[in-house]
Amino acid sequence: MPDGRIVIAGAGVIGCSVAWHLAVRGRDDIVVIDRHQSLGGGSTAQATGGFRTQFGTAVNVRLSMLSRQKLLHFREEVGVDPGYQPSGYLFLANTQNALAELRSARDVQRACGFTETRMVGRDEALALNPYIEGSDIIGGSFCPTDGFIRPMEILRGYAEAAQRLGVRFEFGHDARPLDPAVTYVNAAGAWAAEFCDVPVTPLRRRVACTFTTDALPPDMPMTIWADDGFHTRVREGRVLLLWPDTPPDDEIWMDEVVDRAKKRIPLLRNAAIDTDHCWSGLYEMSPDRHAIVGRHPRMPNVYLANGSSGHGVMHSPAIGQLIAEMILDGTTSVDVSDLRPSRFEEGQLIEGPTLL
Ligand SMILES: Cc1cc2nc3c(=O)[nH]c(=O)nc-3n(C[C@H](O)[C@H](O)[C@H](O)COP(=O)(O)OP(=O)(O)OC[C@H]3O[C@@H](n4cnc5c(N)ncnc54)[C@H](O)[C@@H]3O)c2cc1C
Repeated sequence: MPDGRIVIAGAGVIGCSVAWHLAVRGRDDIVVIDRHQSLGGGSTAQATGGFRTQFGTAVNVRLSMLSRQKLLHFREEVGVDPGYQPSGYLFLANTQNALAELRSARDVQRACGFTETRMVGRDEALALNPYIEGSDIIGGSFCPTDGFIRPMEILRGYAEAAQRLGVRFEFGHDARPLDPAVTYVNAAGAWAAEFCDVPVTPLRRRVACTFTTDALPPDMPMTIWADDGFHTRVREGRVLLLWPDTPPDDEIWMDEVVDRAKKRIPLLRNAAIDTDHCWSGLYEMSPDRHAIVGRHPRMPNVYLANGSSGHGVMHSPAIGQLIAEMILDGTTSVDVSDLRPSRFEEGQLIEGPTLL
């Protein structure tokens, strides 16, 4: 266990989770530094708030299983409602390839002891989401305990609970890993590579949303067309439309998204986009689209909590606990060795269907 101070670079949901998990285990010498003037200056405030265990690699399934357990106890442990709403995630397949990916992801989940995801035929898929046009759907997968969370409530919960335990927050300046007597945690999100050498690159993601409408119910499952990644959900009375592609400009992207939405959800044919409420933010991508969690291969006083590649809010409860265990115990209660930072130099990138 390190004797010196612990400095966490970044007061996003991951930095605040790490801070709270260290403080709740008795560390009283923690500082969280953020270059913005207040909480929520990074990607956490831009997240749409999806939560799922439907992943295609064991390590992501394990992160989700641990996070879900922690979300279920979040209010009593941290003091804030994380807004966990198990409305389900429905993945849809138009092709045999996509269906095979969903099936192999379901098998990975089962091998991890997670049995809640089931394959569904076309009829069941349309029963689970009766609002979609399903003539070219051949099946899919559904997990009823996937659903939604509230990113900024989770961030606020961890930050306030950490402050109550004595964690200090400093805003408005950069953290840099300059003092060898200090243990640093890089929780700098999409900007992680500016803090120290780590293969994280920012990737812009856009969200289109309609004006408030009651065209679709608030508890509609997150619905994802696995072949092209188009997905949609309802949040605060608006329908959110997402498509993780990068056409040359925003106008083309918007036309493509609206076109998909109208074809696939006929009730949206007349729903207008509220351009003032559409937004974009940055994913923190790693080369294999998995998080980078552990001690830096060449900087022994730096721990990395980076590269969640768009899943950082849902995995923040687990990553915070695991980084605290690494720092305080030198080992973790859940095997996340696949996420070790040295895997890139070893040529051991994580493979498997990532499902987005
Ligand atoms: C459009 C969109 C939708 C998303 N939807 C979801 C979703 O549904 N579910 C999900 O789980 N995830 C989602 N994500 C991803 C999620 O937002 C991120 O994975 C998560 O917020 C990462 O948290 P973080 O704490 O690492 O980063 P951030 O919240 O970005 O925090 C990093 C902080 O570090 C600070 N910082 C950077 N460099 C320094 C430095 N050198 N010194 C001091 N401070 C520094 C920044 O100011 C920032 O406040 C989405 C992201 C986007 C953009």
